[in-house]
Amino acid sequence: MDLGIKGKRALVCAASKGLGRGSAEALAEAGVDLVINARGAEALEATAAHLRETYGVQVTAVAADITTEAGRAAVLAACFAQGGMIDILVTNAGGPPPGMWSDWSRDDFIAALDANMLTPIALMQACLPAMMERGWGRVVNITSQSVKTPIAVLGLSNAARTGLTGFVAGTARQVAPSGVCINNLLPGIHATDRAVSLDTGVAKAGAISLEEAKAQREATIPARRYGTAGEFGAMCAFLCSQHAGFIIGQNILLDGGASNATF
Ligand code: NAP
Repeated sequence: MDLGIKGKRALVCAASKGLGRGSAEALAEAGVDLVINARGAEALEATAAHLRETYGVQVTAVAADITTEAGRAAVLAACFAQGGMIDILVTNAGGPPPGMWSDWSRDDFIAALDANMLTPIALMQACLPAMMERGWGRVVNITSQSVKTPIAVLGLSNAARTGLTGFVAGTARQVAPSGVCINNLLPGIHATDRAVSLDTGVAKAGAISLEEAKAQREATIPARRYGTAGEFGAMCAFLCSQHAGFIIGQNILLDGGASNATF
Protein backbone atom coordinates (compact mmCIF):
# COMPACT_ATOMS: atom_id res chain seq x y z
CA MET A 1 0.00 0.00 0.00
CA ASP A 2 1.31 3.48 -0.86
CA LEU A 3 1.06 5.46 2.38
CA GLY A 4 1.07 8.72 0.41
CA ILE A 5 3.61 10.46 2.66
CA LYS A 6 6.76 10.30 0.49
CA GLY A 7 8.72 13.55 0.90
CA LYS A 8 7.11 14.48 4.22
CA ARG A 9 9.36 15.15 7.24
CA ALA A 10 9.04 13.41 10.61
CA LEU A 11 10.54 13.75 14.07
CA VAL A 12 10.78 10.37 15.79
CA CYS A 13 11.99 10.60 19.40
CA ALA A 14 13.89 7.89 21.27
CA ALA A 15 14.52 6.07 18.01
CA SER A 16 17.95 4.44 18.07
CA LYS A 17 16.45 1.13 19.24
CA GLY A 18 13.20 -0.68 19.90
CA LEU A 19 9.75 0.69 19.05
CA GLY A 20 11.01 4.17 18.12
CA ARG A 21 13.49 2.67 15.69
CA GLY A 22 10.79 0.39 14.24
CA SER A 23 8.59 3.47 13.70
CA ALA A 24 11.44 5.45 12.10
CA GLU A 25 12.25 2.53 9.81
CA ALA A 26 8.64 2.14 8.61
CA LEU A 27 8.41 5.88 7.92
CA ALA A 28 11.75 5.80 6.06
CA GLU A 29 10.43 2.91 3.97
CA ALA A 30 7.47 5.14 3.05
CA GLY A 31 9.91 7.80 1.80
CA VAL A 32 9.72 10.14 4.80
CA ASP A 33 12.78 12.27 5.70
CA LEU A 34 13.62 12.03 9.38
CA VAL A 35 14.98 13.75 12.43
CA ILE A 36 15.70 10.99 14.95
CA ASN A 37 16.82 11.24 18.54
CA ALA A 38 18.25 9.21 21.44
CA ARG A 39 20.73 9.96 24.23
CA GLY A 40 23.53 7.62 23.14
CA ALA A 41 25.22 8.96 19.99
CA GLU A 42 26.80 5.71 18.83
CA ALA A 43 23.64 3.61 18.42
CA LEU A 44 21.77 6.65 17.09
CA GLU A 45 24.36 7.31 14.37
CA ALA A 46 24.35 3.61 13.43
CA THR A 47 20.55 3.68 13.06
CA ALA A 48 20.70 6.90 11.03
CA ALA A 49 23.33 5.42 8.69
CA HIS A 50 21.23 2.26 8.24
CA LEU A 51 18.11 4.27 7.36
CA ARG A 52 19.96 6.51 4.90
CA GLU A 53 21.67 3.60 3.16
CA THR A 54 18.61 1.33 3.06
CA TYR A 55 15.88 3.80 2.10
CA GLY A 56 17.71 6.77 0.55
CA VAL A 57 15.94 9.29 2.80
CA GLN A 58 17.50 12.25 4.62
CA VAL A 59 18.15 11.53 8.28
CA THR A 60 19.34 14.06 10.87
CA ALA A 61 20.42 12.50 14.17
CA VAL A 62 20.37 14.54 17.39
CA ALA A 63 21.87 12.92 20.49
CA ALA A 64 20.01 14.45 23.44
CA ASP A 65 17.81 13.57 26.40
CA ILE A 66 14.33 14.35 25.08
CA THR A 67 12.93 14.54 28.63
CA THR A 68 14.98 17.68 29.40
CA GLU A 69 14.24 21.20 28.24
CA ALA A 70 17.75 21.53 26.78
CA GLY A 71 17.41 18.20 24.95
CA ARG A 72 14.06 19.17 23.43
CA ALA A 73 15.46 22.56 22.40
CA ALA A 74 18.36 20.86 20.55
CA VAL A 75 16.03 18.41 18.79
CA LEU A 76 13.51 21.09 17.82
CA ALA A 77 16.31 23.39 16.58
CA ALA A 78 17.34 20.62 14.16
CA CYS A 79 13.71 20.19 13.06
CA PHE A 80 13.16 23.85 12.30
CA ALA A 81 16.69 24.73 11.05
CA GLN A 82 16.78 26.66 7.77
CA GLY A 83 13.01 27.05 7.67
CA GLY A 84 12.46 23.30 8.02
CA MET A 85 9.12 21.89 9.14
CA ILE A 86 7.74 18.78 10.74
CA ASP A 87 4.70 17.06 9.23
CA ILE A 88 4.79 14.00 11.47
CA LEU A 89 5.68 13.77 15.17
CA VAL A 90 6.23 10.46 16.96
CA THR A 91 6.78 11.00 20.68
CA ASN A 92 8.61 8.39 22.72
CA ALA A 93 11.03 8.09 25.66
CA GLY A 94 12.21 5.41 28.04
CA GLY A 95 9.63 4.07 30.50
CA PRO A 96 9.78 4.65 34.27
CA PRO A 97 11.24 1.92 36.51
CA PRO A 98 8.99 -0.66 38.21
CA GLY A 99 8.42 -0.57 41.97
CA MET A 100 5.89 -0.50 44.81
CA TRP A 101 3.16 2.11 45.23
CA SER A 102 4.36 2.81 48.75
CA ASP A 103 7.97 3.56 47.77
CA TRP A 104 7.64 6.37 45.23
CA SER A 105 8.44 9.90 46.33
CA ARG A 106 7.21 13.17 44.87
CA ASP A 107 10.50 13.39 42.92
CA ASP A 108 9.87 9.95 41.37
CA PHE A 109 6.42 11.06 40.23
CA ILE A 110 7.73 14.37 38.85
CA ALA A 111 10.42 12.51 36.86
CA ALA A 112 7.84 10.09 35.40
CA LEU A 113 5.42 12.91 34.57
CA ASP A 114 8.24 14.89 32.95
CA ALA A 115 9.34 11.95 30.79
CA ASN A 116 6.07 10.33 29.78
CA MET A 117 3.47 13.10 29.99
CA LEU A 118 4.94 16.62 29.93
CA THR A 119 7.63 15.85 27.30
CA PRO A 120 5.16 14.64 24.64
CA ILE A 121 2.87 17.57 25.50
CA ALA A 122 5.74 20.07 25.08
CA LEU A 123 6.68 18.49 21.73
CA MET A 124 3.08 18.70 20.53
CA GLN A 125 2.87 22.33 21.65
CA ALA A 126 6.02 23.04 19.61
CA CYS A 127 4.98 21.18 16.44
CA LEU A 128 1.18 21.54 16.22
CA PRO A 129 0.92 25.23 15.27
CA ALA A 130 2.86 24.84 11.98
CA MET A 131 0.97 21.62 11.12
CA MET A 132 -2.35 23.40 11.70
CA GLU A 133 -1.25 26.36 9.62
CA ARG A 134 -0.44 24.05 6.70
CA GLY A 135 -3.64 22.03 7.18
CA TRP A 136 -1.95 18.63 7.54
CA GLY A 137 -0.20 16.81 10.36
CA ARG A 138 0.09 13.50 12.16
CA VAL A 139 1.08 12.85 15.77
CA VAL A 140 1.54 9.40 17.27
CA ASN A 141 2.37 9.09 20.96
CA ILE A 142 3.92 5.80 22.03
CA THR A 143 2.29 5.06 25.39
CA SER A 144 1.54 1.62 26.84
CA GLN A 145 -0.97 -1.17 27.28
CA SER A 146 -0.91 -0.05 30.93
CA VAL A 147 -3.21 2.84 29.99
CA LYS A 148 -6.05 0.36 29.39
CA THR A 149 -5.07 -2.45 31.73
CA PRO A 150 -2.88 -1.27 34.61
CA ILE A 151 0.35 -3.10 35.35
CA ALA A 152 0.61 -2.75 39.13
CA VAL A 153 4.42 -2.64 39.37
CA LEU A 154 4.49 0.10 36.73
CA GLY A 155 2.45 2.58 38.75
CA LEU A 156 4.61 5.52 37.67
CA SER A 157 3.99 4.60 34.04
CA ASN A 158 0.25 4.00 34.62
CA ALA A 159 -0.07 7.45 36.17
CA ALA A 160 1.99 9.49 33.70
CA ARG A 161 0.68 7.86 30.54
CA THR A 162 -2.95 8.09 31.63
CA GLY A 163 -2.41 11.82 32.17
CA LEU A 164 -1.07 12.14 28.62
CA THR A 165 -4.03 10.13 27.32
CA GLY A 166 -6.47 12.57 28.91
CA PHE A 167 -4.65 15.52 27.34
CA VAL A 168 -4.70 13.88 23.91
CA ALA A 169 -8.39 12.99 24.14
CA GLY A 170 -9.38 16.65 24.26
CA THR A 171 -6.59 18.17 22.18
CA ALA A 172 -7.01 15.74 19.26
CA ARG A 173 -10.54 17.04 18.79
CA GLN A 174 -9.41 20.67 18.96
CA VAL A 175 -6.80 20.29 16.20
CA ALA A 176 -8.71 17.85 13.93
CA PRO A 177 -10.54 20.65 12.07
CA SER A 178 -7.09 21.81 10.86
CA GLY A 179 -6.28 18.45 9.28
CA VAL A 180 -4.10 17.25 12.16
CA CYS A 181 -4.64 13.74 13.58
CA ILE A 182 -3.31 12.84 17.02
CA ASN A 183 -3.51 9.23 18.20
CA ASN A 184 -1.79 7.03 20.76
CA LEU A 185 -0.23 3.61 20.14
CA LEU A 186 -0.34 1.28 23.15
CA PRO A 187 2.31 -1.45 23.05
CA GLY A 188 1.86 -4.63 24.98
CA ILE A 189 5.03 -6.62 25.40
CA HIS A 190 7.41 -6.32 22.43
CA ALA A 191 10.81 -7.95 21.94
CA THR A 192 13.05 -4.96 22.71
CA ASP A 193 15.67 -4.07 25.34
CA ARG A 194 12.82 -2.81 27.55
CA ALA A 195 11.26 -6.30 27.53
CA VAL A 196 14.62 -7.88 28.44
CA SER A 197 14.93 -5.46 31.35
CA LEU A 198 11.37 -6.24 32.58
CA ASP A 199 11.97 -10.00 32.22
CA THR A 200 15.28 -9.70 34.05
CA GLY A 201 13.42 -8.18 37.00
CA VAL A 202 10.88 -11.03 37.00
CA ALA A 203 13.66 -13.63 36.71
CA LYS A 204 15.57 -12.18 39.66
CA ALA A 205 12.45 -11.87 41.84
CA GLY A 206 11.38 -15.48 41.10
CA ALA A 207 14.89 -16.99 41.06
CA ILE A 208 14.29 -18.33 37.53
CA SER A 209 16.18 -17.91 34.27
CA LEU A 210 15.52 -15.10 31.80
CA GLU A 211 14.24 -17.69 29.28
CA GLU A 212 11.79 -19.07 31.86
CA ALA A 213 10.57 -15.57 32.71
CA LYS A 214 9.98 -14.89 29.00
CA ALA A 215 8.23 -18.24 28.45
CA GLN A 216 5.95 -17.59 31.43
CA ARG A 217 4.99 -14.19 30.03
CA GLU A 218 4.45 -15.54 26.50
CA ALA A 219 2.06 -18.14 27.91
CA THR A 220 -0.21 -15.30 29.15
CA ILE A 221 -0.48 -13.74 25.66
CA PRO A 222 -3.11 -15.21 23.31
CA ALA A 223 -0.69 -14.74 20.36
CA ARG A 224 1.86 -16.74 22.46
CA ARG A 225 4.76 -14.49 21.53
CA TYR A 226 6.12 -10.97 21.91
CA GLY A 227 5.39 -8.33 19.27
CA THR A 228 8.13 -7.07 17.00
CA ALA A 229 9.39 -3.54 16.41
CA GLY A 230 8.62 -4.08 12.70
CA GLU A 231 4.93 -4.80 13.37
CA PHE A 232 4.72 -1.83 15.70
CA GLY A 233 6.43 0.48 13.20
CA ALA A 234 4.05 -0.57 10.41
CA MET A 235 1.03 0.47 12.50
CA CYS A 236 2.72 3.73 13.44
CA ALA A 237 3.43 4.52 9.77
CA PHE A 238 -0.18 3.73 8.84
CA LEU A 239 -1.42 6.18 11.49
CA CYS A 240 0.92 8.77 9.94
CA SER A 241 -0.35 8.05 6.41
CA GLN A 242 -2.81 9.81 4.13
CA HIS A 243 -5.25 6.94 4.81
CA ALA A 244 -5.53 7.72 8.53
CA GLY A 245 -7.14 11.16 8.23
CA PHE A 246 -10.40 10.01 9.86
CA ILE A 247 -8.71 8.40 12.90
CA ILE A 248 -8.77 11.00 15.68
CA GLY A 249 -7.89 10.69 19.37
CA GLN A 250 -7.80 6.90 19.44
CA ASN A 251 -5.83 4.55 21.70
CA ILE A 252 -4.75 1.60 19.60
CA LEU A 253 -3.63 -1.48 21.46
CA LEU A 254 -0.94 -3.75 19.99
CA ASP A 255 -0.70 -6.51 22.57
CA GLY A 256 -1.29 -9.92 20.97
CA GLY A 257 -4.65 -10.09 22.78
CA ALA A 258 -3.09 -9.82 26.24
CA SER A 259 -5.64 -7.31 27.55
CA ASN A 260 -8.71 -9.43 28.22
CA ALA A 261 -11.49 -6.99 27.38
CA THR A 262 -14.30 -6.81 24.82
CA PHE A 263 -13.50 -3.20 23.87
P1 NAP B 1 14.02 0.31 24.27
O1 NAP B 1 14.14 -0.85 23.34
O2 NAP B 1 14.70 0.27 25.58
O3 NAP B 1 14.48 1.61 23.42
C1 NAP B 1 14.39 2.84 24.01
C2 NAP B 1 14.92 3.88 23.01
O4 NAP B 1 14.64 5.14 23.56
C3 NAP B 1 16.42 3.81 22.79
O5 NAP B 1 16.70 4.26 21.49
C4 NAP B 1 16.94 4.80 23.82
O6 NAP B 1 18.22 5.26 23.48
C5 NAP B 1 15.86 5.88 23.72
N1 NAP B 1 15.68 6.68 24.91
C6 NAP B 1 15.40 6.25 26.16
N2 NAP B 1 15.28 7.30 26.99
C7 NAP B 1 15.49 8.41 26.24
C8 NAP B 1 15.51 9.79 26.53
N3 NAP B 1 15.31 10.23 27.78
N4 NAP B 1 15.74 10.68 25.53
C9 NAP B 1 15.95 10.24 24.26
N5 NAP B 1 15.95 8.93 23.93
C10 NAP B 1 15.73 8.03 24.90
O7 NAP B 1 12.49 0.61 24.63
P2 NAP B 1 11.17 0.21 23.82
O8 NAP B 1 10.79 -1.17 24.15
O9 NAP B 1 11.32 0.62 22.42
O10 NAP B 1 10.08 1.13 24.56
C11 NAP B 1 9.71 2.40 24.06
C12 NAP B 1 8.62 2.94 24.98
O11 NAP B 1 7.50 2.06 24.93
C13 NAP B 1 9.03 3.05 26.44
O12 NAP B 1 8.44 4.17 27.02
C14 NAP B 1 8.45 1.79 27.05
O13 NAP B 1 8.18 1.93 28.42
C15 NAP B 1 7.16 1.66 26.25
N6 NAP B 1 6.65 0.29 26.26
C16 NAP B 1 7.41 -0.73 25.78
C17 NAP B 1 6.91 -2.01 25.83
C18 NAP B 1 7.72 -3.19 25.34
O14 NAP B 1 7.32 -4.32 25.58
N7 NAP B 1 8.83 -2.99 24.66
C19 NAP B 1 5.63 -2.25 26.35
C20 NAP B 1 4.88 -1.18 26.82
C21 NAP B 1 5.40 0.10 26.78
P3 NAP B 1 19.21 5.87 24.60
O15 NAP B 1 19.16 4.94 25.77
O16 NAP B 1 20.54 5.94 23.94
O17 NAP B 1 18.67 7.22 24.93
